Amino acid sequence: MFEPVENQFVGSLCSLEEYNILYERTWTMFWADEIAIKLDKKKKQLVDDAFSTSGPAHVGSLRGFVIHDIAHKTLLADGLDTRFTFILDDFDPVDELPGVNFDKKIIEAEMGKPLFMAISPDKNKSLADYYSEQIVGSASKAGVHPEYLKNSELYQTGKFNEVIRVALDNATKIREIYKKVTGSERPDNWYPFQPICENCGKVGTTTAVDWDGEQVSYECEVDKVDWAKGCGHKGKVSPFNGTGKLYWRVEWPARMTALGVTVEGEGKDHWVAGGSREMADIIMREIYKYPSPQDIRYEFFVIDGKKMSKSKGTGITADEITDILPVELLRYLLAKNPRKEVDFNPKGVTIPNLFDDYDRAMHAFNKEVDFPDLGRAYEIVQEKGFEPGYRMRFSKVAQAIQMPKIDIFIDAETEKGSKLTKYEIGKLNERIEYARKWLEKYAPADFVFKVLDKEPDIKLSEIQKEFLDKLSAVFNENKTWSGDDLHSAIHEVKKSTDITPQDAFSAIYLSFLGKDSGPQAGWLLASLEHDFVTNRLYNICRSK
Ligand SMILES: [Zn+2]
Repeated sequence: MFEPVENQFVGSLCSLEEYNILYERTWTMFWADEIAIKLDKKKKQLVDDAFSTSGPAHVGSLRGFVIHDIAHKTLLADGLDTRFTFILDDFDPVDELPGVNFDKKIIEAEMGKPLFMAISPDKNKSLADYYSEQIVGSASKAGVHPEYLKNSELYQTGKFNEVIRVALDNATKIREIYKKVTGSERPDNWYPFQPICENCGKVGTTTAVDWDGEQVSYECEVDKVDWAKGCGHKGKVSPFNGTGKLYWRVEWPARMTALGVTVEGEGKDHWVAGGSREMADIIMREIYKYPSPQDIRYEFFVIDGKKMSKSKGTGITADEITDILPVELLRYLLAKNPRKEVDFNPKGVTIPNLFDDYDRAMHAFNKEVDFPDLGRAYEIVQEKGFEPGYRMRFSKVAQAIQMPKIDIFIDAETEKGSKLTKYEIGKLNERIEYARKWLEKYAPADFVFKVLDKEPDIKLSEIQKEFLDKLSAVFNENKTWSGDDLHSAIHEVKKSTDITPQDAFSAIYLSFLGKDSGPQAGWLLASLEHDFVTNRLYNICRSK
């Protein structure tokens, strides 16, 4: 419940000190500019990221897309010659088939196959293409348009042949690195490569047991993993041009080397100690002699403290979030600070608070407040041709559109003190659209109200009736009918009556909304016709 007093709507514009504590801010430079100054301006830069196309994308998956896109755009803004590639990891083995409703036997035959060769709910598409299209569509709605590359095609076109050869030649060293980083031992005949079984087509079940410099000998093991069954086939095959793949922990550094990546980050599950990033850095340094790309370690996106799961389908989908937030706000939310976990439950007041934070960043961009990194974040998330300027606070928009007979555009001009620009009108219209969505789906019940056409059946105390009666008399004499005037009138009458603020405001809200809380009372009443208000007060005071 929010208090039935003025300014109930949340999201206070706090001080710099409070803000720094709230957001654990200890720096002033935008994170992507920090990366840019470490890079050589004379050299070409490549920002890269990847996504395993093994299931529907939740909003957490979008974080990597947006963070790398923001890094790319910042590098460009800082004058670096930069490309942005995104790898669709379609060569990973299928280890589950969410949403696929096939015969058990068919599913068994698919488990362990590379994603780009496995069936999907759509007969005409591989599982990889099926999920790739979804995530590429969501990323596009989030304003991310990288050069997409399919991992399978990079293998097939020979792009990885050299890094595969080096990895196989250095199998002994790689086994030692595994032991050092993860503590796990690998046998002397272990190689970092998995051929696609020439008999059953699976890649998740094979183990290479020898490398003679030209071919890899392998076995398709029946019980190698618990999510797929191998066929027992033994074979020998050249490891080049897409006949198989490197294990992920070796593939990642191999790929960054082969593509010449200079900036690539990863989510927390990869950057923890003993994780794949630590291992990738060692492999690049010791095996490939390639300088490790600038890292962007980012925290998880959670809902009420819980990490979302791609396979379990918990949380919000990537598509859903692109529908409830304007694209710049989504980008701002995901990328303003990768080092901070994003905890985003759209229910409640999360969205109005996000708008307030975003507006603060615009004021920082305008140098009206001193948050240099936020101002820069604001600038980088914008599309071309943006104009900072007047914005009506989101919570106020949400109130205004529920008021009868209020012209929000006139109200906005009054608040701004001059005519709105075309751009500002567009932004206000956008806020109206998103405020409607918020009110419909996520706003707490207290924020949603409707002025009742007929008098509600309510019980008021004698003192509340006295208060409303006096108010009605004052309103009858009021020549002007503005929110500010009515606001002052309410306070004057409240002072001259022996009534608590709580009782006074709930009397007004009950009379017009049928509930004991609502938006700023003066503003609410000013949005109604004078006679409607005075008649309602008169009648309520004289009811039993
Ligand atoms: Zn097999």
